[in-house]
Amino acid sequence: MILPEPIQNLINAFSRLPGIGPKTASRLAFYLLRAPEDASRELAEALLTIKSGVTYCQTCFNITTAGRSECEVCASPERDAALLCVVEEPLDVLALERTAAFPGRYHVLHGVLSPIEGIGPDDLKVRELLERVRLGGVSEIILATNPSMEGDATAMYLRQQLLPLGVRVTRLARGLPVGGDLEYADPNTILRALAGRQEMS
Ligand SMILES: [Zn+2]
Repeated sequence: MILPEPIQNLINAFSRLPGIGPKTASRLAFYLLRAPEDASRELAEALLTIKSGVTYCQTCFNITTAGRSECEVCASPERDAALLCVVEEPLDVLALERTAAFPGRYHVLHGVLSPIEGIGPDDLKVRELLERVRLGGVSEIILATNPSMEGDATAMYLRQQLLPLGVRVTRLARGLPVGGDLEYADPNTILRALAGRQEMS
């Protein structure tokens, strides 16, 4: 059966999203076809404003609402500026924030080192991290990149760069499943990994 073009276009668009196969893409498209017009209008508006309504924190590079220069964590006087947790992606910040127990602030790298994909330190927010530490006031850095090959290699690289700056460098404990992403870990697992973090010096 040949589908009308607008439906096929929507199925194609959904299929390009991560984690959505052709079956789910079709189900979503047909759901929206039957749903009240408000549902698709709300979705369309949300999609259109996601880029213009969101920006990056100028301090930690986490996502924040457009128009703000700092995210909520950096702007909060209650968060400990001496404790920095370095993560790969903004979703990892979300996972750590779900524990409601991390008192420090973050630094989002926006990726990991990957020689195979040609991603080096200059492609990540590494320079910005080192500058932040050089400014002073940071005493411990928790490297919370994922327990993958790239995540470990990135942590080792950062350790080399950070130790000469006179800060304590720690790594999340191995409570996380190997190859598992921080963003999918449950709050209790993250809490254990935080509590059992190990010295990297
Ligand atoms: Zn921030």
